[in-house]
Amino acid sequence: MEKLARPTVQALTPYLSARRIGGSGDVWLNANESPFNNAYVIDSDALNRYSECQPAELINAYAAYAGVTPERVLTSRGADEGIELLIRAYCEPGTDSILYCPPTYGMYAISAETIGVERKTVPLTDAWQLDIDGIEKNLDGVKLVFVCSPNNPTGNLVNRDDIIRLLEMTKDRAIVVMDEAYIDFCPEASTVDLLDQYPNLAILRTLSKAFALAGLRCGFTLANPELINVLLKVIAPYPVPIPVAQIATQALTNLSQAKQQVDTLNKNRAWLANELAENAQLTVFEGWGNYLLVQFPDGDALFKAAWDSGIILRNSPIQDCVRISIGSEQECRVTLEFIQQYYAK
Ligand SMILES: *Cc1c(COP(=O)(O)O)cnc(C)c1O
Repeated sequence: MEKLARPTVQALTPYLSARRIGGSGDVWLNANESPFNNAYVIDSDALNRYSECQPAELINAYAAYAGVTPERVLTSRGADEGIELLIRAYCEPGTDSILYCPPTYGMYAISAETIGVERKTVPLTDAWQLDIDGIEKNLDGVKLVFVCSPNNPTGNLVNRDDIIRLLEMTKDRAIVVMDEAYIDFCPEASTVDLLDQYPNLAILRTLSKAFALAGLRCGFTLANPELINVLLKVIAPYPVPIPVAQIATQALTNLSQAKQQVDTLNKNRAWLANELAENAQLTVFEGWGNYLLVQFPDGDALFKAAWDSGIILRNSPIQDCVRISIGSEQECRVTLEFIQQYYAK
């Protein structure tokens, strides 16, 4: 039946998520998941009823956490659905484009391609910052500019001054989408305070990383009410299952637990970065999320050797670089010991 599919879909290569790549091991540090697993209570009293499109309790809880008013919050099935909603709402297939700056998160390209929307790329600079002049020269027909900070997979923050220049440059022309999937690990770097000033700013957030709820599928878009109302036109009628709203609301009302887990992971990251940096053969890039990008003398070989030892990491498109998610203290130690032994040979 493949021949009956849309030509765009026939040509598509699906996103190779860590889950799809597979592997077998004891140490899973390839998907930036949290090592913590927290317990929740589900109330099944009203499962015969459809869920609210935007469950008020959940919206209010996230608004309070993010420090914005509830009409600036939209919830969806993960931040990934937020990416798709933005493209579907703002880009006419065959006419409009998105722009993004590789190396970065893969789903902007995949979602655009699936919907039939053209992709323009302006690579990050050598310092993994925005090439503002390059972006300015390529803005024709662009409706959405995706910027990921902390950037996946490089781990660095994007300069705030450049983000402001980009917002100014795109005023009345395009939306700047700040992907803040990892911002909970460095909340001081958020652009949420710019929302009032820039109606063309949209911010993506998720409970998958710092809140340890990747399996829940719950994300958020923060933006001005006018933009949120555009997204509400294209979202599914019942995007958030009742148990998802319940669990997400519980997670957001126990912020001290999330904060404690974030502190632990930040501490583990600092420890692992320091230990790895002792080895002169490695380059450890400063990371702000729950992962580190590390350059090895032979990244592919290291990746495969770790894989064979049951330590599943993520290879990256950057020469000899491997992305290591920050796990528990024990997982970090096992990974460090493996790497030390590998290069002691
Ligand atoms: C994990 C991730 C997402 C997707 O988050 P979900 O809420 O799980 O869909 C979005 N952007 C980046 C940069 C990510 O790393």
